[in-house]
Amino acid sequence: MTGSRSLRLGVLYPREMNLYGDRGNVLALVRRAALRGVELEVTTLGLDGGDPEEIQSCSGFLIGGGQDLDQLALAHDLVTRKGPALREQVSSGAPLLAVCAGYQLLGDHYRTAAGDLIPGLGILPMRTEAGRRRLVGNILVAASPGLGLANPLLVGFENHSGRTILDPGLPPLGRVVRGGGNDGDSGAEGAVLGPVIGTYLHGPLLPKNPALADWWLFTAADRTGTTIERSQLDDTAEEAARREAIRITLSGSRSRGYRLLGRRPRIRRTG
Ligand code: GLN
Repeated sequence: MTGSRSLRLGVLYPREMNLYGDRGNVLALVRRAALRGVELEVTTLGLDGGDPEEIQSCSGFLIGGGQDLDQLALAHDLVTRKGPALREQVSSGAPLLAVCAGYQLLGDHYRTAAGDLIPGLGILPMRTEAGRRRLVGNILVAASPGLGLANPLLVGFENHSGRTILDPGLPPLGRVVRGGGNDGDSGAEGAVLGPVIGTYLHGPLLPKNPALADWWLFTAADRTGTTIERSQLDDTAEEAARREAIRITLSGSRSRGYRLLGRRPRIRRTG
């Protein structure tokens, strides 16, 4: 594959794990890959597919957020059918970026408010237990300098009942500047282990935080020997969106969209 100009992204359960526009992460990766001279092919790894050979053909993976019931419905497939090939891929350096419910599914388990014990992949040494109050709102996170992100202040939106407890020695993705993060208490947000990043940030995450999109692309390119353009792209529009998100989050004000509606939109999702 040395010198090739294409990568393959495996999107895990895009139908079930797709809250708050997580699909935007796929679009951001495809677009930034193209700007960097790489064709990013997208493969769906859903409940009706994602056999080991398909997983082995991917350069890296994404999984989004979802409701408790959907997590429960797909956990068995994830752990038993996709788990071994996914673990192999990640241990050989394939990037895996997981958001919210997807992040919870990388740990040992998630115990829901209803009392269900949802098994996880065990790729990240951590566990998640439902809390009494949901952590909902805009969030700002100072990403760990070790990641070397061009812009380490991450912006996003969180809505989760789960409290994620990292085992000692598992570093968080960053420190919470505003918001709840892993547990609403410790100041930790997300987790990083080699080519695996888990986070509670929806938004969608990657269009608002292009440095993380580049982290995924460069990690996938390094692992596969793919030639990719690494110079800084023109992120004027992305930076404008980030500045507005940061302003809204720090001021605690409601977004313009909410104001235009004149009321908060009714969100009926519970998980
Ligand atoms: N169902 C999970 C929770 O409530 C994750 C929600 C999400 O992905 N936003 O904790």
